[in-house]
Amino acid sequence: MTIWKQSLILLAGVGLIACSQSTPPPPAIVLTDELRIQLAAADAVDGKTDHVVAKCVLCNLKMDGKPQFAVPAGDYTVRLCSTGCRASFLADPAKAMKISAPSMPH
Ligand SMILES: [Zn+2]
Repeated sequence: MTIWKQSLILLAGVGLIACSQSTPPPPAIVLTDELRIQLAAADAVDGKTDHVVAKCVLCNLKMDGKPQFAVPAGDYTVRLCSTGCRASFLADPAKAMKISAPSMPH
């Protein structure tokens, strides 16, 4: 059962956040309809529609997002892979999600 493994990883992540409270909470992100659709698509990439985007949207959903770089976006939690990706997402969520959305079919 991989669900157990996931739960353990989640718990470890929560522990990390609790231990590092030095960073101020990020500003609230207002979800537009377009952003919501893109978040839903990104959420489904990991096979679970749990409102947690587990892959870094700045890295075309190819890098694993880390709980310590998570950003709340409406009723979603978006995990980024680094401080740089997190900052870019916070600066312009719509633009960040557009980068990850495939614009051209292969
Ligand atoms: Zn990234």
